[in-house]
Amino acid sequence: MTHTLPALSYAYDALEPHIDTLTMTIHHTKHHQAYVDNLNKAIAGTEAENMDIISLMGSISKFPAAVRNNGGGHYNHTQFWTALQPTAGGAPVGALADAINATFGSVDALKEQMNAAGATRFGSGWAWLGVKDGQLAICSTPNQDNPLMDIAECKCQPIFGIDVWEHAYYLHYQNRRADYLTAIWNLVNWEELNNRFEACK
Ligand code: MN
Repeated sequence: MTHTLPALSYAYDALEPHIDTLTMTIHHTKHHQAYVDNLNKAIAGTEAENMDIISLMGSISKFPAAVRNNGGGHYNHTQFWTALQPTAGGAPVGALADAINATFGSVDALKEQMNAAGATRFGSGWAWLGVKDGQLAICSTPNQDNPLMDIAECKCQPIFGIDVWEHAYYLHYQNRRADYLTAIWNLVNWEELNNRFEACK
């Protein structure tokens, strides 16, 4: 299949002041577009051309680094955009809310652990909330890896991945990754995350 850049359901300035307009514009039209374009180039004429992105992640060890990096980049950013929403934030909903309280004790504890996973990821990568063996779990991956990849140290069904590459926050937050991580919870689309959690059951 030929992969395409998904349109955002909100404007580039809609996540202000937490994520600035220029960052959103460059992140979507340049970074994510490049992952899509380079993924399509890397899979052209290979077995990977016939696979959807989820199947590709699950057998990524069979393919070259360009497929891993750009395929991961495409999957990771696609789930990121739809996990965010203007005028969002607030409290988790539904079965996910219950699972968060049961697993972490509180939403604040979840945020703390996830922000720690993002803050301690050296260099570029992602912090993840996912479902592993029926339980919520938090981990992080380097570069554009993700927990769906067969090579991942932390395998789980992703619910929410936070981009901690500098390109995700540097224009507005510079070196203050922790401030970006704190701010991003104002944008979390809990309805969407709960839907993802329900789909894991
Ligand atoms: Mn990114």
